[in-house]
Amino acid sequence: MCGVMASVASSSLMSPVRLSWLFGSLCSRRSANGFGRRCPAAGAAAALLRQSHSGVWSGTRGLFSHGGGASAEQLTLEDIAKNLREQQYKRVVVMAGAGISTPSGIPDFRSPGSGLYDNLQQYDLPYAEAIFQIGFFHRNPKPFFALAKELCPGNYQPNLTHYFVRLLHEKGQLLRMYTQNIDGLERLAGIPPEMLVEAHGTFATATCTTCRRKYEGQDLRPDIMSGTVPKCPTCKGVVKPDIVFFEEELPRHFFKYLTDFPLADLLIIMGTSLVVEPFASLAGAVRSSVPRLLINRDLVGPFASSRRNQDVAQLGDLVSGVQALVDALGWTQELEALMSAASCNNTRGVSGFLHITAEGGRLLFIALKDCRIRLLS
Ligand SMILES: [Zn+2]
Repeated sequence: MCGVMASVASSSLMSPVRLSWLFGSLCSRRSANGFGRRCPAAGAAAALLRQSHSGVWSGTRGLFSHGGGASAEQLTLEDIAKNLREQQYKRVVVMAGAGISTPSGIPDFRSPGSGLYDNLQQYDLPYAEAIFQIGFFHRNPKPFFALAKELCPGNYQPNLTHYFVRLLHEKGQLLRMYTQNIDGLERLAGIPPEMLVEAHGTFATATCTTCRRKYEGQDLRPDIMSGTVPKCPTCKGVVKPDIVFFEEELPRHFFKYLTDFPLADLLIIMGTSLVVEPFASLAGAVRSSVPRLLINRDLVGPFASSRRNQDVAQLGDLVSGVQALVDALGWTQELEALMSAASCNNTRGVSGFLHITAEGGRLLFIALKDCRIRLLS
């Protein structure tokens, strides 16, 4: 079985539908509350998918690629901005990786010398990735909960990149945001959970590793903050936040890509090296005529290996890149107001608000600016 799956799952010709069927057939047994039991076979398939293409983009086409470039002229950032501003793109899919969290100060825990990595060493972690290996977690959950404590809401604030996506949503042009991040900054920026696919899971919910009872993430907070491993009151099993570990199946929500990506009319990719599968291959899942905008430090994935005419790359500092797009859109003032209002809420405990209403085709923003009410039009 595993041998067959290995050969099938590693085939670059495998379609999203075929993949869905594979996962679906392997995971057809679900617990009564709808939350899937751990499915070792599917977990293995997911792990295989993650490992394929690991390290480098190995082919000219991704797993879900729908073909080569269109014959249209090369687009620019300004073209994308103009079309977005004029509502020609109404179903924007955003893909984001760790790069969007770095400006918020979240350290790369894999880097020796970063405070977090050093902090984890006291737990005798054999190597950094062991923190996300389920076997290691069952033997020693403490390093993972040290990470959970570090990422607890309140320690870090969303930045301009997160709020740009929120603004896209407020404009009614966001179809979905797919994020690899587990820091929850997308939710904190006010992007509704239903607009998010947190491909590697979330701390917002948790599950008992023994009896599968579901918990809200906040139920675990007192234990996590005090350095205690949270235990299930029912069975005394360890309660694990719903972060996707290696060898675990992806969230069912992830498979929204099957309907989202074919519908997308613009794909924006931000702050990701596009090497972790199957997330990385999603970049090839939009129709070949759909523009793809990469805002990133480096040229990555298909933008480096099989660029289409409709592809645009804004390289360099991520925040500067997103700011350039926002400026080209003419949304600078609106984004500033959004961030100011959110900042009031997040840091000052003020019951601030942001009311957005459409009037004559324009958005009216009534926002807290520097904690004072201000009307933008
Ligand atoms: Zn339990």
